[in-house]
Amino acid sequence: MASVMIDPGHGPGNPNRGPTGYREYEGMWTLSNFLKEALERSGIRAYLTRAENEDPPLPARGRAAAGHNVFLSQHSNAAPEEFAGQLGGTEVYYSVRQPENRTFAADLSYQVARTLGIQNNGAKTRASASNPSRDYYAVMRAAVDVGCPHVLFSEIAYHDNPAEEALLLDDNMLRAAAEAQAEVISRFLGVSYVPPPG
Ligand SMILES: [Zn+2]
Repeated sequence: MASVMIDPGHGPGNPNRGPTGYREYEGMWTLSNFLKEALERSGIRAYLTRAENEDPPLPARGRAAAGHNVFLSQHSNAAPEEFAGQLGGTEVYYSVRQPENRTFAADLSYQVARTLGIQNNGAKTRASASNPSRDYYAVMRAAVDVGCPHVLFSEIAYHDNPAEEALLLDDNMLRAAAEAQAEVISRFLGVSYVPPPG
């Protein structure tokens, strides 16, 4: 049976937050649990890299990808200081070592952006400055190193942008974004997505 390791980004104590109270580690915990529920409903095994009150080191989170078909690290974004609050949209990173995942990343980004009604920034890679054949994100490097074939890193919206922070503070929007992710992942794994009842 197909299986997915979901990484709810950060953990208690992390300072990443929006202007009116959103905290990234809380939003990503909620989003990740909605995604887990949606995948399991569709017959896919799904797991989380952390418990609600944990903040494991990045390499440990990545290593949890071992033996799973897909690893998805869940984040919300923030602009560089000079552009604070002025950027927006969804983007999904795929590994520089897994170029075949570009379309998967592009589908995930497009469907989440469409669901949230925000800009689609699309599929991206980000290489390490010191070693361009490796990923910038430590959690992705670790997940690739343990042999997970589909390693993705999602930034669903910008939490420093007030309009997008409002979406991230709305559990109904997080649920809709998670269902969009589940639909794309299910299709990619060849499994029929089962929508929520009602
Ligand atoms: Zn983050």
